[in-house]
Amino acid sequence: MNVAFLDLRRETAEVARDLRAAVNGVLAESCFVGGSAVAGFERELAAFCGAADAVGVGSGTDAIAIALRAVGVGEGDEVITAANTAVATVAGIALAGATPVLADVDPATLTLDPDSAATAIGPRTRALVPVHLYGRCAGMEALLELAREHGLKVVEDAAQAHGAELGGRRVGALGDAAAFSFYPTKNLGALGDAGAVVTSDPGVAERSRVLREYGWNADRVSVERAGQSRLDTLQAAVLLAKLPRLERWNERRRELAGRYTAALAGSAIEPPAAAPERGHVHHLYVVRAGGRDRLRERLRTLGVETLVHYPRPVHGHPAWAGLARPSALDESERASREILSLPLYPQLTDDEAGAVLEAVLAA
Ligand SMILES: *Cc1c(COP(=O)(O)O)cnc(C)c1O
Repeated sequence: MNVAFLDLRRETAEVARDLRAAVNGVLAESCFVGGSAVAGFERELAAFCGAADAVGVGSGTDAIAIALRAVGVGEGDEVITAANTAVATVAGIALAGATPVLADVDPATLTLDPDSAATAIGPRTRALVPVHLYGRCAGMEALLELAREHGLKVVEDAAQAHGAELGGRRVGALGDAAAFSFYPTKNLGALGDAGAVVTSDPGVAERSRVLREYGWNADRVSVERAGQSRLDTLQAAVLLAKLPRLERWNERRRELAGRYTAALAGSAIEPPAAAPERGHVHHLYVVRAGGRDRLRERLRTLGVETLVHYPRPVHGHPAWAGLARPSALDESERASREILSLPLYPQLTDDEAGAVLEAVLAA
């Protein structure tokens, strides 16, 4: 049996009726920027996260930039994030005018290591951007404590972790603000690009609304210099239609991840470390293996498609090679050589999951 890494046609088919109704609703209202879909999705997303407000923007990268500016980060400021992340994280930091500084990850969770982040703090540090990578809530207790000690803002990169929890609270409600992406393959995905800033600070929400649209205040007077990054109305309607299914989809991801992890116990393939109850929404199921590239090739010949997230740490990209990295980034570098993402998404069938495991154990 061939197993694709992800077949989004299945999710689209599952929600097709609701999507058509959502698009028809936008056509009926014919308010193509803003309108009830954007306001409705912002309200529902904030409620889902347990936060006071959400501000729809054009992408996850823009959400990081706008959230950082809204909490007061700008030109000349340094922002610490993990070296093992999507380049979008540092792109967003740079777009805010700030300078990204790289810290290492905890080898067990592959999220920002608080000790490494601490060594990266200098006189110009203004914020931390922990990434809830692969769907796992980062070590927020220690990071929030570190931020408090040093007077830093915390902007969560929650692009991969819609619905992940820490002690009964959801990501998006843990820091000063959070950035979400609704890139089509995320746990909650649009039919194109979309993002949001989530915050419980009314000042940060208001400033995010100003920053997403020409720096306009309520009277359409530009009170600061800003570009345009609105959440598209059609995308908002699509997201509003999909949001009620997100918890069920995350449950199915957890079920599949549990099955994979149980089957891999005692094998040469290291499953992801256990996470606290509901602390992981398994955007990606990332194992570690020596000889990763050979394993990947072997799985390909057995019909199982895999990907690597990510094959290079941020500083392995020429554009970002010059970023400051005050401490060694050994764990991020080692991870980039050993990690492998197996197919895992809500519509993956039990038979396909079985075929993945059979191939992995045979390989
Ligand atoms: C997807 C992603 C982003 C960026 O989202 P876009 O919507 O593609 O701009 C940022 N950070 C992480 C960790 C992501 O996975």
